[in-house]
Amino acid sequence: MADYRKRREGLLRFLDERGLDGVLLISYENRRWFAGFTGSLGYLLVTRGGAFMVVDMRYTTQARQQAEGVEIIEYRADRLGAVAKMILGCGVKRLALEACMTLDEYFVLKDRLGGVELSCEQEYFTELRMVKDAEEIQAIRSAIECAETAFGQTVRMMRIGMTEKDIADEFSYRACKAGADKLAFDTIVGSGPRGALAHAFPTGRVIENGDMVVCDLGVFMDGYCSDMTRTVLFGDVSPEHMRIFRLVQESQDAAFAAVRPGVRAIDVENAHRVPFLRENLDNYALRGLGHGIGVEIHECPRVQIGNERTVLSPGMVFTLEPGLYFPGDCGVRTEDDVLVTENGAENLSHTPHEIHVG
Ligand code: ZN
Ligand code: ZN
Repeated sequence: MADYRKRREGLLRFLDERGLDGVLLISYENRRWFAGFTGSLGYLLVTRGGAFMVVDMRYTTQARQQAEGVEIIEYRADRLGAVAKMILGCGVKRLALEACMTLDEYFVLKDRLGGVELSCEQEYFTELRMVKDAEEIQAIRSAIECAETAFGQTVRMMRIGMTEKDIADEFSYRACKAGADKLAFDTIVGSGPRGALAHAFPTGRVIENGDMVVCDLGVFMDGYCSDMTRTVLFGDVSPEHMRIFRLVQESQDAAFAAVRPGVRAIDVENAHRVPFLRENLDNYALRGLGHGIGVEIHECPRVQIGNERTVLSPGMVFTLEPGLYFPGDCGVRTEDDVLVTENGAENLSHTPHEIHVG
């Protein structure tokens, strides 16, 4: 079992750095990561004096079992009243709220808290989750394996004449059968010209001979996400499209070769652009190469232009997803999940990059 007390020490450092007395976490991901609680609703307050969580009657027993070292406070009515009472009862004068709080909750709580000074934060908590422990890495490996099993079965059923939605539905069914709790995100399937829409939703478009089909998929299993993209080649793909396809694979290889402890995330992002710049095609790439995965599908480290700050260290897990997108013509993306190791990197995704159908 994870050491949640140790994880919460990161929140105490946050309080010290910002000169605060308390932090209120409300997202499923942070409640689960900082307290081990998997219920759908709960307000976790962490102060120097301890950790407290307001839950409703549905979850009192579960919270007491799961959230070791957290004092559980049950409410029956007036949810935010109970949350305010907990905060004021701890003597908190300066409080950080998790930034994903809804505005209606914020205004009610602000009113109830009177003179308490409020601020909001999100990225700091995500950064605390950035380096994964062995148990987390194992959970991510399992989620990846599940998605790859389901995708492998889906590929064997792929035919020219299927629709995008056929592919997405097939993957969804097989992923759940393979052990996924749910999909990590809505599966993306973009065929032919629709591949240029980086986040294409699956439609009834029928896949034709010569299409490249971007399939981006992942599962959520035991609290952790996987994320993978393959561009599947249907029938006789034109030489020009194959040239684009191969260039993206070259970019992926260049990015992977750059991953090791001590390099900055931006250096990996820069490495993936070298082949695109050489071919004068960089304008057709997106402004980001990848993102961390964990309890959320998009988390730190952010491997994108503008992030000059993050330095890679062992235990980080993130995606490398170079792509080229030509509006009205085609798109190609290849996405793997990689782990930073003591000496370099391990590619956690094992599905071949080049897949031909028909
Ligand atoms: Zn993806
Ligand atoms: Zn991704």
